[in-house]
Amino acid sequence: MSIDATPDVLAGLDAWRDLPAAQQPEWPDRAALEEAVSTLATYPPLVFAGECDILRDRLADAAQGRAFVLQGGDCAETFAGATADSIRDRIKTILQMAAVLTYGASTPVVKLGRMAGQYAKPRSQNTETRGGVTLPAYRGDMVNDFEFTEEARRPDPNRLVRAYNASSATLNLVRAFTQGGFADLRRVHDWNRGFVANPANARYERLAMEIDRAMKFMAACGADFEAMHSVEFYSSHEALLLDYERPLTRIDSRTGLPYDVSAHFVWVGERTRDLDGAHVDFVSRIRNPIGVKLGPTADPDNVLQLIDRVDPHREPGRLTFITRMGAGKVRDVLPTIVEKITASGARPTWICDPMHGNTFESASGYKTRRFDDVVDEVRGFFEVHQELQTVPGGIHIELTGTDVTECLGGAGAIDDGDLHQRYETLCDPRLNQQQGLELAFLVAEMLTQRS
Ligand code: PEP
Ligand code: MN
Repeated sequence: MSIDATPDVLAGLDAWRDLPAAQQPEWPDRAALEEAVSTLATYPPLVFAGECDILRDRLADAAQGRAFVLQGGDCAETFAGATADSIRDRIKTILQMAAVLTYGASTPVVKLGRMAGQYAKPRSQNTETRGGVTLPAYRGDMVNDFEFTEEARRPDPNRLVRAYNASSATLNLVRAFTQGGFADLRRVHDWNRGFVANPANARYERLAMEIDRAMKFMAACGADFEAMHSVEFYSSHEALLLDYERPLTRIDSRTGLPYDVSAHFVWVGERTRDLDGAHVDFVSRIRNPIGVKLGPTADPDNVLQLIDRVDPHREPGRLTFITRMGAGKVRDVLPTIVEKITASGARPTWICDPMHGNTFESASGYKTRRFDDVVDEVRGFFEVHQELQTVPGGIHIELTGTDVTECLGGAGAIDDGDLHQRYETLCDPRLNQQQGLELAFLVAEMLTQRS
């Protein structure tokens, strides 16, 4: 039986239109924008409402320490990067990391890709100047092209439709990879063996051996259950462009409630979490589990008001705070926030993004991050939660499945002089495959101490 949404619910979905919306492109061609939005409104959902509900339950488990979240993928996906190899490699890295984290946490790992929709970027400047020429900033493939020409940088609404198509193709392959045997735990474990076989990673041998013994034990017992063959894998992105998210928001026929069917989980970024802004209003009206990024200047009272807006019923799994304080600040700034929110009775899921508070420009001019800072912020995040007896529920990482050279350090000891070799990101620097896996081993060690 289908349940109709009330007129109030429908009107609410457009309330954001009367509020200030930060970080929206200035589309030069309004008619083309309207056409793209109407086209998106006719397209089928990328995810089902019921899947979003299951993810909400999984995130509720993470809030209580009964699961651990691994959210990861590109800073900015690109249309050119929506290839079979690139999608496979990213999934592979996330699965490899998840296997190690599952052992460390002794709980299921909730796998959440920054994938199949992460095509729009907030920017600190509206324009970019090179050699005396000023053009609109690159805002992600959903808006314009990275190439530095007037033509390429002009926002083109047809890109909203292309983003949907690229997301649809990506998600189709993600579903095939994660349901079709590729993700079998024994296979993932074999890939991980290669990592510790490298002498540079000898430090992780002990943990790897323990995992190996656990796998052999399961095999000896004849363990062969469904969860070994296929994995649940969810999609997520920043809900930045409301002209993309709104037409992909639909009323679920089972419940009569609105879901943003562009992804299972969407988050509001550090630059758009204004309490009275369009983004917070929009996400407060959809039923998907919602994330909100919190940077070092987040004010605890403001965060409490955010909870009242986005999660007024304090529903388990509804709201995830993705904290990105920076390694140097996390131990000073995070405790006040977590303490105040916990004292209010709210129980959001806490996830650590150790990437965005640790970005700087290297001497050679690349935007980069130090692997050690990334590790240190996660360590600080665990320490703070341990001290307050709250739950460190997961990590949020920018990563690739290949051997790019964008972040400094790790066992491969990438230094400033190496960055130019494979610096491929169009936005923020990502951990490469080896750095991602190394981080998973280090976080697994922290988790063994948690449980
Ligand atoms: C991002 O996740 O790429 C991003 C821009 O993050 P933040 O909103 O935390 O700055
Ligand atoms: Mn980023």
